Amino acid sequence: MFLTTQQMAVAGVAGPAWGLKHALRDGTVVPSRTLVWCVGVRPDPFVESLGLATEKGRLCVESTLRVPGRPEVFACGDAAAVPDLTRTGEVTAMTAQHAHRQGKLAAHTIAASFGHGRERE
Ligand SMILES: Cc1cc2nc3c(=O)[nH]c(=O)nc-3n(C[C@H](O)[C@H](O)[C@H](O)COP(=O)(O)OP(=O)(O)OC[C@H]3O[C@@H](n4cnc5c(N)ncnc54)[C@H](O)[C@@H]3O)c2cc1C
Repeated sequence: MFLTTQQMAVAGVAGPAWGLKHALRDGTVVPSRTLVWCVGVRPDPFVESLGLATEKGRLCVESTLRVPGRPEVFACGDAAAVPDLTRTGEVTAMTAQHAHRQGKLAAHTIAASFGHGRERE
């Protein structure tokens, strides 16, 4: 089935996974067994308001998660454009897996800055 752009705005979904009904904004009800949901993500606009270098709205950081030129500032997760060490020139995706790992890395790096452990990437 092909839907027009206007129809694609789903107003509501009801029913169990094996018998969904998608109610479109134009009133059409489409029976279905599958729902494919696509969503875009973007960092909080607060990041761009900081006046620091950003890439696609994410704060530019080094692989240690420090903001270049501001060694006392760390950023990670969706808010940060973290270099992906496995893909040269790329930054990590905005996913929970990266955010979780980077959160731990930020904690280690901050602890290291106080003399506990060593800094990592
Ligand atoms: C609908 C949806 C589905 C997703 N599904 C998946 C998935 O299946 N798998 C996956 O890996 N990732 C998924 N993601 C992405 C994942 O949720 C994010 O990448 C992850 O949560 C980023 O973690 P974070 O800690 O960087 O940011 P967040 O989890 O967004 O945490 C940031 C926190 O900061 C708070 N905050 C914001 N501004 C301020 C402020 N000014 N002052 C104080 N607090 C503030 C927010 O309230 C929030 O609690 C999904 C995202 C969305 C939107």
